[in-house]
Amino acid sequence: MAANSVATAATQTSAPAGTELTDPFTEMVRQASTFIFDIVAANTPFDLRWDRLLITLFLACCLFLFYRGRGGRGADGRERENKGLLAYLLPKDIYTHVSAKVDVGLWVLERILRPLWTVSLFATVGPFTAQITIDVFLSLFDASPALEINYAWMLLYSLFSLLCYDFVFYVIHYTMHKVPALWAIHKIHHSAEVLTPLTRGREHFIAGPIWAAGSAMSYGFAAGVFTYFFDGSIVVATLFNVSFFSFILGLNGAFRHYHIQFHYPHWLAKWIQSPAMHHTHHSYLPQHWDTNMAAVTSIYDRLFGTLYIPEKNEFTPWGIGPNTQHEYRSFWQNVIGPFKDWHKMIRGGSSPQNGAAAQSGNS
Ligand SMILES: [Zn+2]
Ligand SMILES: [Zn+2]
Repeated sequence: MAANSVATAATQTSAPAGTELTDPFTEMVRQASTFIFDIVAANTPFDLRWDRLLITLFLACCLFLFYRGRGGRGADGRERENKGLLAYLLPKDIYTHVSAKVDVGLWVLERILRPLWTVSLFATVGPFTAQITIDVFLSLFDASPALEINYAWMLLYSLFSLLCYDFVFYVIHYTMHKVPALWAIHKIHHSAEVLTPLTRGREHFIAGPIWAAGSAMSYGFAAGVFTYFFDGSIVVATLFNVSFFSFILGLNGAFRHYHIQFHYPHWLAKWIQSPAMHHTHHSYLPQHWDTNMAAVTSIYDRLFGTLYIPEKNEFTPWGIGPNTQHEYRSFWQNVIGPFKDWHKMIRGGSSPQNGAAAQSGNS
């Protein structure tokens, strides 16, 4: 979600030489005049910035040529016939679907609220985690070794940050699928019946602070580790002003919520989540439940046994399944959905079924 954003913020900061050992997040907070603007600007969704959209569109055109117009899915989850480039890139049944309209409403609501918790959580959780990390390292190993910074270290920082982010994302995501009270929130992401680039940001507004706190912790930890080893002078390697690996893998992420089922060779899918693997995550078929939980890599799904690499042309119908989909179709149904579930839990003692159980009987 916010992999690129926080990394962007981290690139803009480094502690001045000769001062006390501070981390990039603490330094960021000190730059109060630009802080709020940077954070809000950096949180513009990766796939909605015009330059990234153009790159995504260009790659989609390449896919059209490479797949000879195949691979696109309709709103029913079935592969579409080749009806030309425009219908391939922007199929009418996907972009006029009620689910796509709900995506817009939820996105607007979440974006209005996002600066509130982004600023508050990044200004607190990020620096706090970084400072704790530095303190632990200082107490374990004494003074910083003050390593010499070079581009290889910067790349490693970019990669390490991403791996930390992906791990925390995995843990939060897994928990959201398995704990009924949290599934009530995350279900809103899964109630999408079609996938569009906006589905990436389709979350209940309550989920925002949870993801933000996780991002802040992971980047704070990575910043703390590298700040200790480089005495505060580390900066992340960037590409187009975004953390190098976040940029490369952000493009990968742009296709996660796109209707074209884009596979990687099997060996690569074992390391990086292909867009088709996230199609599987959004499927309501039983064999696809609770799979492919990480944001970027396949490492944690492999480690914890949730990896699922789909076959070419595997049927992955999206949504929460016919049994409950009608309860999560409109904008307001999705907004009040978690509150209804919690109310049911408190009154009846019954918990809203999690990702798997909620869909039982639908296949
Ligand atoms: Zn999920
Ligand atoms: Zn998704």
